Order: sequence, then C-alpha cells, then structure tokens
Amino acid sequence: MRLPVYLDHHATTPCDPKVVEAMLPFFTERFGNPASRSHRYGWEAEEAVQHAREEIAGLIGARAKEILFMSGATEANNLAIKGVLEDHGYAGSHVVACVTEHASVLDPLAYAEGRGTAVTYLPVDAAGRIDPEQVRDAIRENTVLVTVMAANNEIGTIPPLDALGRVARERGVLFHTDAAQAFGKIPIDVDAMRIDLLSLSGHKIYGPKGIGALYARRREPRVRLEAQIHGGGHERKMRSGTLNVPGAVGLGRAAAIARERMETDASRIAGLRDRFYMKIMPVLDRVRRNGDPEKSLPNTLSLTFDYVEAEALLMDLEDVAITPASACSSGSFRPSHVLLAIGLGVEQALSTIRFGLGRFTTEEEIDFAAEKVIEAVRRLRSWSPLYEEERGKRAGA
Ligand SMILES: *Cc1c(COP(=O)(O)O)cnc(C)c1O
Repeated sequence: MRLPVYLDHHATTPCDPKVVEAMLPFFTERFGNPASRSHRYGWEAEEAVQHAREEIAGLIGARAKEILFMSGATEANNLAIKGVLEDHGYAGSHVVACVTEHASVLDPLAYAEGRGTAVTYLPVDAAGRIDPEQVRDAIRENTVLVTVMAANNEIGTIPPLDALGRVARERGVLFHTDAAQAFGKIPIDVDAMRIDLLSLSGHKIYGPKGIGALYARRREPRVRLEAQIHGGGHERKMRSGTLNVPGAVGLGRAAAIARERMETDASRIAGLRDRFYMKIMPVLDRVRRNGDPEKSLPNTLSLTFDYVEAEALLMDLEDVAITPASACSSGSFRPSHVLLAIGLGVEQALSTIRFGLGRFTTEEEIDFAAEKVIEAVRRLRSWSPLYEEERGKRAGA
C-alpha cells in the first residue's frame, strides 16, 4: 500500500498507465503539428487528434466537430460564459446560475457582472439540489444562458440535467454545464439532456493535466461564441494556438477507457465509499453526511465531524491525503460556499472533509483510512472541552 492513501480524486487523478502509453509516441516519433497540412507528420498528428475528438464526443453523444480542445475545464468554462455573453453583449444580458458552482464559473460570472450582465444565483436545498421550476421562473426576456454544473465537486450532488435542459430549451436559452467531475463518471447525453455547452477536463478522468475540452452544439441550435484567444484560427477559430497533441490523445484515450469502465468503476467505487462510511458511522457520533443520498457521484463522501476542525484533522492524518471541504478555498480558512449553501453553519463547514475515491483505490486503503480517521477524530475530540461537555450532558440526560 502506498502512503499516504490518496483520497483526493476531485482535485486530480493519476494518469491511467494506458493513457500514458497512448501519449508517448506523440512526444517523439509522431511529433507533428496537426496544422501542418503539407506532409505526413502533420497528417498523422491530425488523424490522432481527430480520433481523440471522436472518443470524447462518443462519451456524451456529441459529434467530433463539436469538441474544441482547451487547456482544461477552467478555460472551457471561461469560453462558454464569456464567449456567449460577448456575442450577445455583456450589458443588458442575463444569466441564470447556481450558487454552488465552481470558482471557474463564478469568477467569469463576476467578471461579466462588472461589464453590465445581470446574474441570478439560484439557491439549492439541503441536499445541494437546484429546482428546475425556479430556473424556469428566473428566466427573463434577456436571459441568454443557464449554467448549472453536472456534478458538484465538494458534495457530489447531481442535478436533474434533463429537466434543466428542457426548461432552457423551451425558453430558447442556451444551457451550459460544467461537467469536470461528471464527464466519464456518470452517463451524459447532450441531445437527450438538451445540453448546448459542456466543459470537461483531462486530469479528472485519469488523463493528463493541461488539457480539456468544450463541447459546443453546432445544430439546433448552433451555439455562437466569441473567441477569447486569437491567433492562427485553430479549433474552428475558437481557440488559437498549436494543439497539445499528446494531451488531446491522452484525453481521448482516457475517455475511451472511461466509456468502457463507467459502470463497473462506478459500482465498485460506490461499494468502497459505502464500506468506508459504514466503518465510520457506527463508531463515531455527531457525524453528518452531506450531499444528495439519491443522486450523487459514486466516488464522493462529504462528512462533517462536529467538534473537530478539518484543518486540525488534516494535520493529524499524515497517512491519508484528503482535503478540507473546498480545495479552492483551502489555504484561507474561509468556509466553503457550497456547504453554507446547503445550510451548514460556519463551524460545521469548517469541520467538513471531502473524501474522493478513485479507480485505483483498494479495499485495503479504505480500511486503513477509515481506521486512521476514526483514531484522529477521537483524539481531537478528547482535547475538546466542548465535546466533553456535550457528551456529559447527553450521558446525564
Ligand atoms: C477541477 C474542476 C474544474 C477545473 O478544471 P481544470 O481542468 O483543472 O481547469 C472546473 N470545475 C469543476 C467542477 C472542477 O472540479
């Protein structure tokens, strides 16, 4: 067993060795630039990139031409949001979003607000769910985009994508979804769900870092985007710059593997997650599980340990690599906006840990990690006068 046990798969995943194998030739022998149209090196690279586009498109029911390579989901979110708004004009446009979105959606939205766009941030319920009826009510005459993530990176909640897509389409509004955590892990069909724009990332699905893609619908409706990076007109003029060929090949391979293994991975990983939870639950009191018990990512377990500061728990847990509730706000001690949105108090939010399992997580690792977490929580609580007082009260009652 390799220590520390890695339970932070929302932050990033290791490359699948088969992905690395597929990429290697494109650093050396097959190093061509797909934009070189006059010789075999270029054609070879172009063919490999085209194949990767097909693999990615195949996983979400899209067409290869609708896949635009980006540096990651952050860039894809930026292009989706700014690209649509710039096309319509920032000022006077309106966007409907969800409060629990990732920073790479919230920050471009804040940027747009600075340029005159109105944004409605819809709340979620205690499970992190957004209500499609509220989205319907929030859409106005000047609404140009609805953006709701396909799976939450902190608590794993999956919204009713189908219903959201239907509401947006009925009103003639584009529907964008940040699928960085969902792509390759849960079934997505852009036609059935009426998704017009979808962001995805390589390094969240056992592919390389620094590559991702934006799916942009080309028919019924054809999405119009204003490019954010100008240059040689690559990626249908949407994203200039020489393609990261090894990255694109790696992402394609990762998508193909995810497609093959989605069901078996999901049930195995959910089984391990439940095993982990069932080890912790009976022996620790005052533990709350966050997220939607029904529709959630199979690899996600968000737990609030009352009377334990997440930061202290992390320091205590040398042999388990985990993250406090939000990776993006770690470093600062700000409570996660997602946990506050589902109704946790500041203290509870700061007592929350996200466990993220992955394709290579083993039963042995899960048993080891559960034991370490239980030990650490008990130790930290034994130093907590509040916990002792509370326990005394309960024993007396
Ligand atoms: C990781 C992540 C991103 C950013 O993806 P990068 O490829 O690292 O830019 C965006 N949204 C969500 C939900 C994520 O989990």
